[in-house]
Amino acid sequence: MRIVRSISEVREIVRQARRDGSTVGLVPTMGALHEGHLSLVRRARADSDLVVVSLFVNPAQFSADEDLGAYPRDEAHDAELAADAGGDILFAPPVEEIYPEGFATSIHVSGLTEVLCGAHRGAGHFDGVATVVTKLFHIVAPDVAYFGQKDAQQVLVIRRLVRDLDIAVRIQACPIVREPDGLAMSSRNAYLDPAARAQATALNRALDAAETAVARGETRAQSIVAAAHDVLTDAGIEPEYLELRSPDDLRELDDVGEAALLAVAAQVGRARLIDNRILKAVS
Ligand code: AMP
Repeated sequence: MRIVRSISEVREIVRQARRDGSTVGLVPTMGALHEGHLSLVRRARADSDLVVVSLFVNPAQFSADEDLGAYPRDEAHDAELAADAGGDILFAPPVEEIYPEGFATSIHVSGLTEVLCGAHRGAGHFDGVATVVTKLFHIVAPDVAYFGQKDAQQVLVIRRLVRDLDIAVRIQACPIVREPDGLAMSSRNAYLDPAARAQATALNRALDAAETAVARGETRAQSIVAAAHDVLTDAGIEPEYLELRSPDDLRELDDVGEAALLAVAAQVGRARLIDNRILKAVS
């Protein structure tokens, strides 16, 4: 796998590939790769001729009190994993390459970014995500870009900016990859000590409880959320948010309707964890 640090070099590689008629897939990551990331790389490998994996711990999406300094980093290991999963290029630029002196532009997607993680991490979080992803789309110009449904709000924000800014890329969302006990894989799971790791399984169990309630015919948001909340409470977790929203535009829902997104975030031990489930009403 070739590790590329500069924008000009990755552009040249993509230009050459396109001249040869190749299609290009992009998998944006912040590294500390796990099976969740690798599922995206494998999907890109299956679809595209040239697979670019980007590794950039984006300072712009961390607020001052978040874990930028502590974020796990192991580029050599990531390069091995990404190569084994089918990546061709690891685009791992230094911070100055992405944010040169005097960088002054920000992409803001209104509405979608003011709720859930946007409300709790601050508006700057999704501005940081939208800005870096827009840059990556311009730098790599992929045919398809792959994102995990684990970050459901992020997928919606990116779909919206691609539509609004007429960026010629297809966004492919991929299913959440979980540990055998149901915990959604996350680079931040590395922060969990054994007790917190055990506690963290409650997030997925809470989503299961909501799904069971819906399968039994419950349609009211309040009752569905309460079923999930009970599981978290039993595990000693007070969620940052636990909300039923429209999977299309994150509108608040009173009723599950045809399909609804149940999204949760919680601090568990030293890790801030998120998870979600699309709930489909029984017909
Ligand atoms: P990150 O490195 O956390 O920014 O994640 C990079 C990409 O991997 C994002 O599109 C995430 O949604 C995706 N991702 C992270 N964890 C998972 C997971 N457990 N299952 C599927 N995709 C994931």
